[in-house]
Amino acid sequence: MLTNPLLLITIDGPAGAGKTTVSKMLAGELGYRYLDTGALYRAVAWSVRAASVRSDDDQGLGEICEKMRLRVGQRRLVLNGVDITDRIRSPEITMLASVVSARPVVRQALLGIQREAGRAKGLVAEGRDMGTVVFPEADLKFFLEATVRQRALRRYAQYGKAGDQTLERIEADIRRRDDDDSGREIAPLKPAGDAVVIDSTAMTARRVVDLILTLVGQYI
Ligand code: C5P
Repeated sequence: MLTNPLLLITIDGPAGAGKTTVSKMLAGELGYRYLDTGALYRAVAWSVRAASVRSDDDQGLGEICEKMRLRVGQRRLVLNGVDITDRIRSPEITMLASVVSARPVVRQALLGIQREAGRAKGLVAEGRDMGTVVFPEADLKFFLEATVRQRALRRYAQYGKAGDQTLERIEADIRRRDDDDSGREIAPLKPAGDAVVIDSTAMTARRVVDLILTLVGQYI
């Protein structure tokens, strides 16, 4: 019996474009593994804060990255034996992750971990530079976009009411992260030349996943 080949699929895009929801659904439906690379940058940010290292101290950042022992499971992220999955989602860590992710020493340190995860195919990898830098040879690349307002509304619906953040504050943070992530010199946020760009502003996650599944079916 013929079986479908296992693919490496990348999903990039700005904060709030629906990458995580879509990537998890897609991986689940294809029976693939899922790699959340934003969580790796968040783990670095968490260590940087815990060690009180300055975010522009490249030597300190390098030492932190060298000492980091990350276990990247499908659901939990364990750093040096501590489960930090739920601790890396605060607004403070979110902004710090964006700052440290602009440092070449950090990006270089995380490159190996990410490529290692992609060695066995059957993977959906989500981030900012999956299709451009980490997995340029990926089988299928997607770039999800949506308006800033729509992305802020989604975040607000997710955390806002329970948390202490106003919609305006969330929108301002998203704008700042967009600027930082797109404007940095190394691995800036942008679609790969061969990525399929999907504007999800008026689409449900279900519709985005269905569209991607159709393209996966055509590819296979
Ligand atoms: O996706 P998430 O919001 O968890 O990512 C947190 C931050 O990590 C992003 O704002 C971005 O600066 C950085 N990041 C990155 N490259 C990736 C994934 C995330 O620079 N592949």
